Amino acid sequence: MVEYVFPPAPQASVAIERSAARFPVRRIFCVGRNYAEHAREMGHDPQAEPPFFFTKPADAVVDSGSTIAYPPATSDFHYEAELVVAIGAHGRNLSTDEANGLIWGYAAGNDLTRRDIQAAAKAARRPWDMSKGFDRSAIIGALRPGPIGDATIRCTLDGEVKQDARLSDMIWPVEAVISYLSALVELAPGDLIMTGTPAGVGPIARGQTCRIDIEGLAPAIVSVI
Ligand code: MN
Repeated sequence: MVEYVFPPAPQASVAIERSAARFPVRRIFCVGRNYAEHAREMGHDPQAEPPFFFTKPADAVVDSGSTIAYPPATSDFHYEAELVVAIGAHGRNLSTDEANGLIWGYAAGNDLTRRDIQAAAKAARRPWDMSKGFDRSAIIGALRPGPIGDATIRCTLDGEVKQDARLSDMIWPVEAVISYLSALVELAPGDLIMTGTPAGVGPIARGQTCRIDIEGLAPAIVSVI
């Protein structure tokens, strides 16, 4: 048995619908610009490139229903409604057909973003880590095992609809995202993939509650103080 110089951090995990068990999180991969309208609103050509990826630390996950502090070092803190795919098996260099076999389930998620830090990083051609991978930056609703078809994806801020799209609006469907990612890293049980956000991203202010709904899944709700 390994002896550590201090107790290891608790295992990051996500709730599972109608279960007391939790899904242990290994890594969090995120897709950039996977909805054409959002790519355009950020000033890019949606057809120009294959999917690209960035990451968040596993312990950035926060359960739905939590209250978080407005993060430091930003004055432009944004919501991004996203479908989250939970990976339940190992795989690399997968075809899209094989990719389906790795999917454990799905959840609604919010890829919280310090947009001002991201804009500065883009301008300076620097990494996105501090704009995307900060503490408590991934709100994940309860996972539901099994497949998902087309569904609506919606973000409401204090009850006002801010993002409203369909999962079928994704440029790269889930199996294609997994296939591309599996050519870059070996996927493993516990990996989560946040699959990109539709158009309509915008700021969350202190005192507001942001809710992500995907038809058929539990919501991902966060309040910011
Ligand atoms: Mn995103």
